[in-house]
Amino acid sequence: MDAVIVGGGVAGMQAALAFRWQWPDKTITLVDTEKEVGYYRTLLPQFMNQTMTEKKLFFWGLQDDPRLKVISGVTVESVDPRNRCLFLDNHEKVYYRRLLIASGGRPIVPGVCSPRDCNGIFPVRSLTVAREARDWLPKHPEVVVVGGGLVGVKTAAHLAGHNFSVSLIEKENQLLPQALSAAASRLVEAHLQQKNIRLLLGSTVEDVQVSQGKIGAVQAGGKWLPCQTLFVAAGSLPELNLLRDSDLLNEDRLEVTPGLQTLDKNIFAAGDAVTIVKDGLFTPWTWPQAVVQGKLAAQNMYSSSPKSLNCLSRVNCMNLNGLSLVVLGVPVPGAQVSIYSRPKDGIYRELFHRDGKIVGGALIGNISNGGRLHGMMNSGENVEIGFDELLKPQINTFFKGSPSCTRYNRRASVLQPEGV
Ligand SMILES: Cc1cc2nc3c(=O)[nH]c(=O)nc-3n(C[C@H](O)[C@H](O)[C@H](O)COP(=O)(O)OP(=O)(O)OC[C@H]3O[C@@H](n4cnc5c(N)ncnc54)[C@H](O)[C@@H]3O)c2cc1C
Repeated sequence: MDAVIVGGGVAGMQAALAFRWQWPDKTITLVDTEKEVGYYRTLLPQFMNQTMTEKKLFFWGLQDDPRLKVISGVTVESVDPRNRCLFLDNHEKVYYRRLLIASGGRPIVPGVCSPRDCNGIFPVRSLTVAREARDWLPKHPEVVVVGGGLVGVKTAAHLAGHNFSVSLIEKENQLLPQALSAAASRLVEAHLQQKNIRLLLGSTVEDVQVSQGKIGAVQAGGKWLPCQTLFVAAGSLPELNLLRDSDLLNEDRLEVTPGLQTLDKNIFAAGDAVTIVKDGLFTPWTWPQAVVQGKLAAQNMYSSSPKSLNCLSRVNCMNLNGLSLVVLGVPVPGAQVSIYSRPKDGIYRELFHRDGKIVGGALIGNISNGGRLHGMMNSGENVEIGFDELLKPQINTFFKGSPSCTRYNRRASVLQPEGV
């Protein structure tokens, strides 16, 4: 086999499709633990609340391509770089000339959230688990979500208003602490509270009560919350189990160059599995980054002049069930802040800047100009017209309240993230 990809998430699928286009005469095999590959992981909350059918989750369907083989429902147990060979859990071996590791992340499940023999607890990450949750939810509508990061906030926002009572527990004093300033997160908090989501900020799960093999209640901040369904969204770690004996890891990290090459020149890696080394360590684990990295890795795998990633930002665009949001980057210590705020319209826009250049920011409730601002930030362009002027919303591109428009923009940015 010319090339093998471990992982059929967005980084792996994007790489497989780009590889077929870039190297049309070469063969490629993709292996994934899950039974299906090529779906929008980001839309699992809408699938679990039954507003999205399973069919609509998929951006790729199995095709009859003699040069692209997909082995699904099979886990790669280990890699032997010396003999360029993978060992699968079905006892088969697969040999490669080039390998791409796109094994993504696995959810962190705190010990207290995993009592023995207890039904109704779902880490939010895979379609396999999301299917179980979708079937479970209708008869178990008292929901607690652990984790106020992106995955937890999206899960809570999409479950609210579907006959579920939803509580969200976050250990920091604000939501989305790794993406937003405290001021920006207040708008997200207000949006969730409007949806009757009970927020427990600055709290952690202290205990869980199991009754007759099912979750019954969760204790956080000293209070017991009734809970029939517990979603765990407390962060994720790179899934690197398959590399534990391979010499490719440095202090448990799979480090890659900006050209996505590992310590072994025949092995590349992309997406949530990697740490990029470029004047420091970067872990931009987002959907847009996984798309771009998958594409780049496919190009570089057989290239004599590999290219480098030119953007390491965690820029992101999403819709939290009625609230549009663009994250340009977290607050930077020492940076100045410019703000445009219209609280009664649910709009808050802020930019962090230093020496006349944008270094981060967020657009909430009105995301107009997001593409331009990201472009300026990425290229290090000097802001000539003034930050206040740049922050003013553009009248003709007001996304809030226009669901079809927001859906279109979100899906487009998922597949074509370059503009975001
Ligand atoms: C509910 C939810 C909502 C999200 N929303 C957003 C959002 O709005 N914006 C955003 O930027 N990001 C979002 N994310 C994060 C985003 O989905 C990830 O950044 C992205 O999926 C990473 O892609 P990836 O291909 O690197 O990894 P993954 O999507 O995790 O895919 C990795 C694949 O590798 C397979 N695999 C792992 N180990 C092995 C092995 N040993 N053998 C075989 N197969 C293996 C796994 O089964 C998996 O299919 C969200 C995530 C979730 C769960």
